[in-house]
Amino acid sequence: MELGFTKAEIEGVEIKPVSCKTALSKSRLESDYALNPYRGCSHGCKYCYSPCVLREERPWGKFLDVKRNIPNVLSKELKKKKKGMIRIGSVTDPYQEAEGSYELTRRCLEQLSRHDFPILIQTKSGLVRRDTDLLKKIDSDIGFTITTLNEDFRKKFEPNAPPVSERLSAIRELKEEGLDLWVFIGPLFPYLNDKKEDLIRLKNTLKSLGIEEIYLDKLNLRKKVWERIKPLLGSEMQKKYRDIYFDGDDYFKRKKKMFESIGKTVF
Ligand code: SF4
Repeated sequence: MELGFTKAEIEGVEIKPVSCKTALSKSRLESDYALNPYRGCSHGCKYCYSPCVLREERPWGKFLDVKRNIPNVLSKELKKKKKGMIRIGSVTDPYQEAEGSYELTRRCLEQLSRHDFPILIQTKSGLVRRDTDLLKKIDSDIGFTITTLNEDFRKKFEPNAPPVSERLSAIRELKEEGLDLWVFIGPLFPYLNDKKEDLIRLKNTLKSLGIEEIYLDKLNLRKKVWERIKPLLGSEMQKKYRDIYFDGDDYFKRKKKMFESIGKTVF
């Protein structure tokens, strides 16, 4: 089951096949286990705080470790572990571009479909549609992240992630397949993607696709994230962000009610 694989080429991303000793780790998020077939994420979102979680010093979005033996390791672990919810891609997108070639997420799903572990997946990629057959067999909870309908914002802050239109098409198709889906709108950037009219437009678009479950989160500004997004904000906006994040401006508190009219806030 280990891959004898054709190496994917992704422009600007150094890909390294690695072996893992364990597949499932304890999850600190709302699940029992975390499963990450890849270390690194070629989507390269500027606001991503996974490098902080992983204590990763390599430039985020520019490297990818491919855990080539993970389906095999997972298969052994599933026979021994206590049943529990598995979050696939807790720190990196399990359907990032390389998955199209390596199919590690799919091979893990194949293992999971033989056991009775519920799964949770959150992605920005329409590639998830490829695995509809398996997702229908497994007790799966699938969410899409959509930060905006504005492609300029998406290109700036999620430079290599799929366009929003691809995510919306995937939602439409998976809904037609009868899968239950939710959408995560986040992170909310003050003054940028968090305007009431834009969020209402996004909510209505999602509603027209049958999405009722929406979550919102604010931008969390860890030090490394601030360093990455600061150059993308003009000097005026940088000052506003300093006020909110470092000088006690209660911006998010003031806007919370409006956010709650769109969906459930998780901050
Ligand atoms: S898709 Fe998720 S994990 Fe990947 S870079 Fe973006 S925020 Fe990080």
